[in-house]
Amino acid sequence: MNKLRGIIVNFVVIRLRTLKSLFLTTLKFTNMLTQKIQDALNNQVNAEIWSAYLYLSMSCYFENEGYAGIANWFKVQWKEELDHAEIFMNYINSRSGRVELKAIDAVPTEWKSILDAFEATLEHEQKVTAMINDIYSLAEAEKDYATRDRLNWFVSEQVEEEESARAIIDKVKMVGDNGMGRYMIDQELGARTYAAPSPLTAAED
Ligand code: MG
Repeated sequence: MNKLRGIIVNFVVIRLRTLKSLFLTTLKFTNMLTQKIQDALNNQVNAEIWSAYLYLSMSCYFENEGYAGIANWFKVQWKEELDHAEIFMNYINSRSGRVELKAIDAVPTEWKSILDAFEATLEHEQKVTAMINDIYSLAEAEKDYATRDRLNWFVSEQVEEEESARAIIDKVKMVGDNGMGRYMIDQELGARTYAAPSPLTAAED
């Protein structure tokens, strides 16, 4: 009798284990990124690192030109772009995806003027906004609402990126060739400080 009971218990345990592993496999499968979304996110990681590289180049250029404040502003910008890349990498990992770090293209090394650099910044951020919007549309098409949700932070962030570049462009245009005006802009941009973005600080909790 005991032997029979043992056989039945073993049978039930094996059945339950099979069901559990089947359930976990299904769960993992449904949580996985589609190839299209994973590719788009990996492209975005590359674009964010390229952005970081671009702003680092601008920072070095202005340091060399004697504008320590503008150099500081772009250095903070450089760190923020690396953070953007990290947020995307963390997200890919959290969905059991594969992060693919690709080659980073070379960036420009000089600009005609302060205005030229900030206009290039605005133009670049507008391109990034379009890229984020494209992934957002793809996430909706693929019914990947978790990715869409993660992108919401970036949608707001891009509004800020474009707004701050535009505000600096307005000031640079306002002062024109006035040396004192340029000095004051350099002082103002020198006051910018770096703070880790909320998706990264929240992840550390
Ligand atoms: Mg960015």
